[in-house]
Amino acid sequence: MSERFYVNLPLVPGPFLLEGPEAHHLAAVSRIRAGAEVRLFNGDGREYPARVTHVAKREVSVEILRVEAPARELPFTLEVAASMPKGDRAQFLIEKLTELGVTTFVPLVCHRSNVHPRESKREKLERWVIEASKQCGRNVLMRIEDVAEWQSYVSRLEVDKMRILAHPCKEKKIGNPGAISRPLTLAIGPEGGFTEDEVALGVASGWETVSLGPRILRVETAALVLVAAVTSCNES
Ligand code: SAM
Repeated sequence: MSERFYVNLPLVPGPFLLEGPEAHHLAAVSRIRAGAEVRLFNGDGREYPARVTHVAKREVSVEILRVEAPARELPFTLEVAASMPKGDRAQFLIEKLTELGVTTFVPLVCHRSNVHPRESKREKLERWVIEASKQCGRNVLMRIEDVAEWQSYVSRLEVDKMRILAHPCKEKKIGNPGAISRPLTLAIGPEGGFTEDEVALGVASGWETVSLGPRILRVETAALVLVAAVTSCNES
């Protein structure tokens, strides 16, 4: 696949001027020259193959050749609410959830959360989503939602939504969930785990608890295992 560049603008066939960090990346990092083919995307679900016509230091001229709409999204809406892990593991989590096709990510604050995601970090999270989308070929960006407290998030009234909460327990091991035909939300607790009161509140609000096996997984591992379990049998 030709190298992909993100543009936060509407795109149509014809000439287009690429500016800012993406132009710098194309010219100085990837060292792409006039004549090469690249792909632009803006998160509208489509992809725009383009020919590079001129490369300058701060801007790159391209000719958008056509519009394509490859099917790369999941066949159902998937929301993941997770307590943020620390440091680089947060970036790893956002990158991998983007690659796996998650629709929406909700930074969750629970009683035992020790990382409190500030709203100012949203831009950083969105940048990680874009970088992962460039790499994996996704043309719809994973949406980053506002930070939510478990106490209020747990009881949001969402008709027709399946809701699964990961919690280490002996019963209800995640199995093959089969074909998923309605929106699904998954919740993963903080490093210290959900409190028993938080789990009870989830159950009382209609969440199903599942175990991911006998070992305790870190937040990002648990999120990826759960997402992979529900997506692997729902993609061709
Ligand atoms: N001591 C904590 C506990 O017992 O809940 C461990 C928390 S774990 C590091 C972080 C989160 O990952 C948990 O709140 C849960 O959502 C998920 N998790 C980790 N291992 C799990 C497992 N084996 N089964 C289900 N969920 C798991």
